[in-house]
Amino acid sequence: MANAQRREIVVISGKGGTGKTSITCALAPFAKNTVFCDLDVDVPDMHIILAPQAQKTEAFMGGHKAIIRQEECVGCGTCQKLCRFEAIRQIDGHFAVDSALCEGCGVCSALCPQKAIDFPEALCGHWSISETRFGPFVHAQLKPGEENSGKLVSLLKQEARALAKKLGFTSLLCDGSPGIGCPVVSSLAGATLAVAVVEPSLSGLHDFKRVAGVSAHFHIPCGVIINRYDLNRQGTEEFEAYCQKEGYPLFGKIPFSAELQAASQKGLALTETGGALTETVAAIWEKIVNFHPSTRSQLRPMTAKRNE
Ligand code: SF4
Ligand code: SF4
Repeated sequence: MANAQRREIVVISGKGGTGKTSITCALAPFAKNTVFCDLDVDVPDMHIILAPQAQKTEAFMGGHKAIIRQEECVGCGTCQKLCRFEAIRQIDGHFAVDSALCEGCGVCSALCPQKAIDFPEALCGHWSISETRFGPFVHAQLKPGEENSGKLVSLLKQEARALAKKLGFTSLLCDGSPGIGCPVVSSLAGATLAVAVVEPSLSGLHDFKRVAGVSAHFHIPCGVIINRYDLNRQGTEEFEAYCQKEGYPLFGKIPFSAELQAASQKGLALTETGGALTETVAAIWEKIVNFHPSTRSQLRPMTAKRNE
């Protein structure tokens, strides 16, 4: 992907439950020559609609877990005393590590007088490259309770970019992580455009200001889709006024609709049912792909607002 032509759109939200994934999937049928990527690795959902057929699946290793070699352990109990996560238990006279509690700090392994504790890299989950009816899809599944999601997000983006380059595609459409933590920062790194799916309420506006601040920090332009706008028309007006005042492009508004639930129940994207909202979402996609920040000055007010 030559940088000048590269388009990397990441759909984000200040918090979960705004309809971010449903809208990302609804945009997918309009995105041609695009690699899709689910970066919401803590709760990946795009696969439910995209119905991927895996072409390649690999292990995701991250962090470390302690394992006691029983044959070399002399039962001194030092490791149990040192472990502040209470991950080492004595069972039937033997010391053993509960891998679910082990935080991988490595203290026990470093200080065991017998050097009887291994500290290998641990399997955290799997990631895949799949085919879907809309195009190639890069996604992952973390094991329950696993962290390292920022590292996995970076890996998925790297793989999606490499795949796009191999296929001669210039676009990535990613479902980003919700919130403003480490995974969303990893989601946004290198993006050319953030699209925030928001709900029209005071708390929705507050969440948007925070996530737009993260976006501004990385000098990534950020536009807005107001979802279920008709449930709070006054909130929508206030959101629109804020976007206009601060220079955030409003890509569109989507009303609450039973169409979405009906489509999901059939395993379809909202825009595959031929319902009334298809044109609405098509128009939003046109605005997104035709958006170009005209000058760098458009980014300055966003940067200035990042600590709000
Ligand atoms: S510190 Fe080493 S030798 Fe002592 S109980 Fe733990 S594993 Fe066994
Ligand atoms: S690596 Fe750290 S957390 Fe895991 S068992 Fe050893 S001391 Fe406890």
